Amino acid sequence: MTKKYDAIIIGAGIIGASIAFELAKNGYSTLNIDKLSAAGAGSTINTCAIIRTSYSTLEGTAMAYESYLHWKKWPDHLQIQDERGYAKFHETGFLILHDEGRDMSVILENHRKLGIPFEEWSIDTLHEKMPFLDLNAYYPPRRPSDEHFGESSGRKLAGAIFFPGGGYINDPQLSVHNVQRAAEAKGATFRFKAEVSDIRQEDGHITGITLQGGEEIDAPIVVNAAGPHSFVINRMAGIEGSMKIKTRALRHEVHFVPAPDGYDTKRHSHVMSDDDIGGYSRPETGNLLLVGSQDPECDPKEWVEDPDDFDRDVSDEQWQAQVFRLAQRIPTLPIPGHAKGVVDLYDVTDDWIPIYDKSDLGGFYMAVGTSGNQYKNGPMAGLLLAELIDACEKGRDHDSDPVQVKCPITGFTLNVGFYSRNREVNKNSSFSVLG
Ligand SMILES: Cc1cc2nc3c(=O)[nH]c(=O)nc-3n(C[C@H](O)[C@H](O)[C@H](O)COP(=O)(O)OP(=O)(O)OC[C@H]3O[C@@H](n4cnc5c(N)ncnc54)[C@H](O)[C@@H]3O)c2cc1C
Repeated sequence: MTKKYDAIIIGAGIIGASIAFELAKNGYSTLNIDKLSAAGAGSTINTCAIIRTSYSTLEGTAMAYESYLHWKKWPDHLQIQDERGYAKFHETGFLILHDEGRDMSVILENHRKLGIPFEEWSIDTLHEKMPFLDLNAYYPPRRPSDEHFGESSGRKLAGAIFFPGGGYINDPQLSVHNVQRAAEAKGATFRFKAEVSDIRQEDGHITGITLQGGEEIDAPIVVNAAGPHSFVINRMAGIEGSMKIKTRALRHEVHFVPAPDGYDTKRHSHVMSDDDIGGYSRPETGNLLLVGSQDPECDPKEWVEDPDDFDRDVSDEQWQAQVFRLAQRIPTLPIPGHAKGVVDLYDVTDDWIPIYDKSDLGGFYMAVGTSGNQYKNGPMAGLLLAELIDACEKGRDHDSDPVQVKCPITGFTLNVGFYSRNREVNKNSSFSVLG
């Protein structure tokens, strides 16, 4: 006999688990299905878990700020104990280094509008606070094979913006386990090592899913929270062709190097974003620095056709590109003899802004296209989807009358229509992992 749920959520990453938590709080019986063996074992396990509010749109900034406030009071958000303990938010602050070419005015205006604190650092302040940084400008970022790699443009950086409300989560998989436990405490069910192979529908409405092996589970609502597999699930549901904005999987590498001499984890451990060299870094356990890329134009983009089949090994070439670029900014950065890092997939939309929306198939919803920048927004993505689903199931036509969600802490009203599958490509986006 098949068991029936109010809603099946495909995926138990930070997004799927958060949706379960919020739906369960609203009295929905939910089942998360994940083909992996534990919550957060998909792309969330390899996230850099950076928490920041610097998005290119007001909506993105508001959502990130509200989510940041949830991370800051994580146990209060969850309202339960997890036998494994809580993931920890290291609130180190978030620092954007910028040169003259980078217009920071929109980001700063968004922060002013929302009352989010920030400090503008001159180049002298930057030098005083981070004396190990080389403050020459190098734009545009290059690959080490470029004959002009390492040449300064002749200018200095213009300065930096410091956002005290930022940092990173120490253990992203544990954070998802926390959400799983919180959702279970409200009645949610999680099932692992089970792969959804079909999405069943009748007369334009969802009836349930079928697992590989043939087992059928019924539900009038199915949510696609499948991360980089989102396009596979959308195709399975037959709805991909009816959306203006699409998703696809992008391979991405993150590397680890030892922290440089003089790096003091109490004073210098800010998460650092640096357009001038096309990268970012943050402290990592074991006196390491984690080195990421902002996908500068010179780097080839590795779109992946099959998210179950991609190269999970760090490539020497990309490792050199990311690590050597950071060494331009931190000349004392130790360069180890061996490449070390992790490889995973972003689930990228056409404008690098996610899709949190219904679909043209009744009862089928999406929380997809997280574009390398939505781990931090898990708490609010959960709430947005829960409110969207509840409103639509009660008859609201979200496409013509978009659902509005009031942020519980800041009181800002988020227009869920901003994340529509049928929006025009948002020209205000950074079109990058910065969102
Ligand atoms: C290298 C890297 C660095 C990043 N850094 C940051 C950062 O610093 N800050 C930030 O905010 N964001 C960051 N991100 C983005 C962030 O990690 C993602 O936006 C977020 O983790 C996505 O969560 P998810 O739940 O949607 O996806 P996932 O965690 O991938 O979960 C989806 C789940 O769906 C399951 N699934 C898929 N298909 C099926 C199926 N057919 N049947 C059953 N289960 C299925 C998968 O097994 C998987 O567990 C980064 C991402 C990467 C890859």
